[in-house]
Amino acid sequence: MAKNRLYHDFNNINLNIMSNENKSIHEFEFELICEYFSGIERQGPGSPEVTIKALSFIDNLTNESHIADIGCGTGGQTMVLAEHTQGDITGIDLFPAFIDLFHVNACKLNVQNRVKGIVGSMDNLPFQSEELDLIWSEGAIYNIGFERGLNEWKKFLKKGGYIAISEASWFTEERPAEINTFWKDAYPEIDTIPNKVIQMQKAGYIPVANFILPENCWTEHFYKPQVEAQEVFLRKYKGNQVAEELIANQRHEALLYSKYKMYYGYVFYIGKKL
Ligand code: SAH
Repeated sequence: MAKNRLYHDFNNINLNIMSNENKSIHEFEFELICEYFSGIERQGPGSPEVTIKALSFIDNLTNESHIADIGCGTGGQTMVLAEHTQGDITGIDLFPAFIDLFHVNACKLNVQNRVKGIVGSMDNLPFQSEELDLIWSEGAIYNIGFERGLNEWKKFLKKGGYIAISEASWFTEERPAEINTFWKDAYPEIDTIPNKVIQMQKAGYIPVANFILPENCWTEHFYKPQVEAQEVFLRKYKGNQVAEELIANQRHEALLYSKYKMYYGYVFYIGKKL
């Protein structure tokens, strides 16, 4: 893998596939990463409570609304959205294996008639201009970058439509070198909350609300379910360097979080298109 950084495992694969270099190796990595993340309910930090809280700031929805969930993964948060909204929801993710599981999850909840998953890329979304009432995206916009996503996706929103995004952010102006270096390498666009809010405003949205995701979104809902999944995975792929590196990255990231969680985390940003 190009970088020893979990956070961008998805992103590295994405870029590597695009550049088509060493294709067979990257396809293998890609499959392993998909398999690993398919085994857990969420592919990023979050919780049902947080999804519902973010939704509470959004007041334009009816049973005719069109909602998109971009970088939906296997649909953990999409199903929560489905239970608390009436309109239709289109989940989009780059990885077909995640969309397959998304469909299974929609069927389990019996919402498959209004909640559909499609394979596609967030830099080439299949929506019409001003078609959407709400754009949702948890822990995924980093794949094209916060500012770029805010700017490019805006055209798909109706005037007065909402965007709700969770994004890695700094809580303080300064932080220890170890965590600073980790993030600058993994995601150089990580920034402080006020700077992210300004970016949202400059992109043409009213910054309606923002809040920090509580720690349990990382511990209970993201890292804890991985502990068992990692053991199963390592047993299955014993001696496989790619698999071992993937798990080592995950564990390293979890360790960094426990050490430096006062300096960074995920923040939900909710904006309304002018
Ligand atoms: N929203 C989910 C998944 C977050 S992980 C959750 O919170 O659980 C980030 C997701 O973005 C992954 O599912 C990954 O497959 C997807 N992704 C990465 N690059 C993408 C792209 N270019 N277009 C669409 N989805 C992408």
